[in-house]
Amino acid sequence: MTKFIFVTGGVLSSLGKGITAASVGTLLKHSGKKIGMLKIDPYINVDPGTMSPLEHGEVFVTKDGAETDLDIGNYERFLDSSYLKSSNFTTGQVYSSVIERERAGGYLGQTIQVVPHIVGEIVNRIKKAGKGHEILIVELGGTVGDIEGLPFMEAIRQMKHDDEVAGTFFIHVTLIPYIKAAGEMKSKPTQHSVQELRRIGITPQMIIARSERPLPKTFKKKLAMSCDVPQDSVIEALDAATIYDIPVTFLRQHILKPIAKELSLGELDPDMGKWDTLVKKIVQPQNKTVVGFVGKYLELKEAYKSLTESLIHAGAHLDTRVEINWVDSEEIEERGAQELLGDCDSVLVAGGFGNRGIEGKIKAIQYARENKVPYLGICLGMQLTLVEYARNVLGLEGANSIEFDKDTPHPMIYLIDNFLDQSGGTQLRTHKSPMGGTLRLGEYPCDTKAGSILRNAYNGEKTILERHRHRYEANPAYRKELEKAGMLVTGESNGLIETVEIKDHPWFLGVQFHPEFTSRLQTPNPIILDFAKASLNAQ
Ligand code: GLN
Repeated sequence: MTKFIFVTGGVLSSLGKGITAASVGTLLKHSGKKIGMLKIDPYINVDPGTMSPLEHGEVFVTKDGAETDLDIGNYERFLDSSYLKSSNFTTGQVYSSVIERERAGGYLGQTIQVVPHIVGEIVNRIKKAGKGHEILIVELGGTVGDIEGLPFMEAIRQMKHDDEVAGTFFIHVTLIPYIKAAGEMKSKPTQHSVQELRRIGITPQMIIARSERPLPKTFKKKLAMSCDVPQDSVIEALDAATIYDIPVTFLRQHILKPIAKELSLGELDPDMGKWDTLVKKIVQPQNKTVVGFVGKYLELKEAYKSLTESLIHAGAHLDTRVEINWVDSEEIEERGAQELLGDCDSVLVAGGFGNRGIEGKIKAIQYARENKVPYLGICLGMQLTLVEYARNVLGLEGANSIEFDKDTPHPMIYLIDNFLDQSGGTQLRTHKSPMGGTLRLGEYPCDTKAGSILRNAYNGEKTILERHRHRYEANPAYRKELEKAGMLVTGESNGLIETVEIKDHPWFLGVQFHPEFTSRLQTPNPIILDFAKASLNAQ
């Protein structure tokens, strides 16, 4: 039977509940426990797949092809594990399955209500996610007091008394504001949010207090008293130099002690030695390199979360600060690539959807190719790498992806109508296909070519596994022409072109998949690591 740790948030959002949940998970995993992770999102969307990255940050893709909340990415990066579809569900999914069952006659005669049917469905899903794990950490999105969070609160409350549940522990993450004028820290918002939790029937057993300043002992005591938790269960979470330092700061405050006691986990002594060495290299590295990061969702950097984190991982293993120079692709259109990228050691063109900023990205690629600057193009970045080569080397005027120009005379990137999906089934993708759930998603094998940058990055591995999230594919009709002109296909999957490189360039690689999704602090992605190395050597 599984034990459950529930992480709720109070006062306001963006307090780092995901990092908190991941940090607790990391400490437990390093103590030898088998940990599962689950994120519950109270919004109505079935998944975040159709949401703009500017709305909700990055859409993270799991190995089995689910489009999930970016916190799943945090879990994978911290716990160095792959999580599946079942690690994230939304209100939309809960209601869809209850309504589907109702239509199928699954509740004949009954009136379907939030309690017990919706709440029951939530409890079942949580328990299912916990199967096979000693402990499941469940992070509840949103803030206590939100209307849409109520059924979830009720579900986790009920689980306290469930015979199929081996134990529960409730962690509440809140904010302690500091009022400058009064020179005081304030516990009142936390007290109110704990009161709200209690009204619902949940008494948190631990308070994790986000604060700009260290909490004085007397303040901790007061907080413990007013929130009805033992003093050793008030944990402070100060703003950290890197998020990867948080597990270690929690450990220093003996966070595992009350958790182990309440859940009868025995003595826990996590080995964080190697982790700590990597954290030190993030905070105080010996070297530095600057990556020109060309993208278009720059107003919200969370849109590129996995990618920016993967550069941090690579940096930690190279003892290097990989600094990002953010470059808006639309600005390149106006001011040129040389002016905006001239000071960078390397160029990275990220993925994306839609027309905006395309021509700027193409200019950035041309600049990196012609000036022999290390270059990595990811997904849309790879697609445009072919478009750039077609236009400027093959001389194919008007070459494009049909995503941006349906009538292009040279569709370098096109739509495959008949496509074998992950489970071997045929998927039909046309312009009329619905937008939700029709992308090529999840992990696919890719065969690498001997002697390529790609294969070398993976230490000679013949077949690699990386994750995808795109609708369009490179058009094989142009392959011969491209190869004759010096652009080589170095990665293939079932006849699909997955990676391209060019001759006579120190480091130039376009990849159709997203290497950033498999990068973790302890095991950085080989492509990102090799790219960062090339960037460092280019100085
Ligand atoms: N828009 C492109 C496609 O759908 C690339 C997607 C991406 O970069 N993730 O194929």
